Amino acid sequence: MRLRKVKDALIKLEAHSDICILNPKDHKGKWNELFQNDNKVLNLEIGCGKGRFSVNMAKLNPDINFIAFEKFDSVILRALELYLEDPQPNLRLVLADAENLLEYFSEDEISNLYLNFSDPWPKARHAKRRLTSKSFLDQYKVIIKEDGAIYQKTDNRHLFEYSLVSYSQNGMFLDEISLDLHKEDRFNVETEFEEKWKDKGPIYFAKVKFKND
Ligand code: SAH
Repeated sequence: MRLRKVKDALIKLEAHSDICILNPKDHKGKWNELFQNDNKVLNLEIGCGKGRFSVNMAKLNPDINFIAFEKFDSVILRALELYLEDPQPNLRLVLADAENLLEYFSEDEISNLYLNFSDPWPKARHAKRRLTSKSFLDQYKVIIKEDGAIYQKTDNRHLFEYSLVSYSQNGMFLDEISLDLHKEDRFNVETEFEEKWKDKGPIYFAKVKFKND
C-alpha cells in the first residue's frame, strides 16, 4: 500500500511508542508481557495497512492478543490513528519489515498468522518478496505453534495460485479454501482493501497449516 508520505510520521509514532512498537527485537520471546493480561493466544497480522482488520479482530476477541506488522511509517500511522479512535488493550502495532521475523519472535510464540491482500509482486524476479515464498514460510514454521494456522485472503489470482503451490511444496496442507469468499456464509472481518475491491471480482481465501514432522 502506497500512501503519500506523511511528514514527520515517525515523530508522531514515537509519541505513542507504547502502542506502536518501534523496537520489536526487544520483545522477542515476551510479547504477551506487553499486554498485562492473562491471554495465552497471540495472533500476528503481517502487512496490516491502515489497521481495520486487526482493530476489529481485537475488539471481537478480547481473550486473544494481536500484533499487527506494517513496514511503512506513513501507513502504520493511519492504523495508529484508527486505534486511538477505538483503543483495544489486546492489540499492539509494530513498525517493521517481516523479512527477519526470527529476530522478533521466539519459536512457537505465535498461534495464528493473517496475510490479508499481501503485495502480489507480479514479476518472477520478485517472487522471493511474496509473503508466501519459501523463505517466509520457513520462518513462519518456526514461530507458529503446532496446529496454528495461516489465514490468507487476496483478490489476486496469481498470488493465490503461487501461494497454494508454495504451501504444498513446503510441508503445509490446506485446511479450508474458498474461491469466492463473499459468496459464502463465512465469518469474515473485512480489511480496507477488501471493502474497496470485493465487488470487482472474487476474493480468495485459504486456511493452511504445517504438517507435523
Ligand atoms: N492488509 C491491508 C493492506 C494490504 S496492502 C488491507 O487488506 O487493507 C499490503 C500491505 O502490506 C502494505 O501496507 C505493505 O506496506 C505491507 N507489507 C508488505 N510487505 C511487508 C513486509 N515484508 N513487512 C511488513 N509489511 C509489509
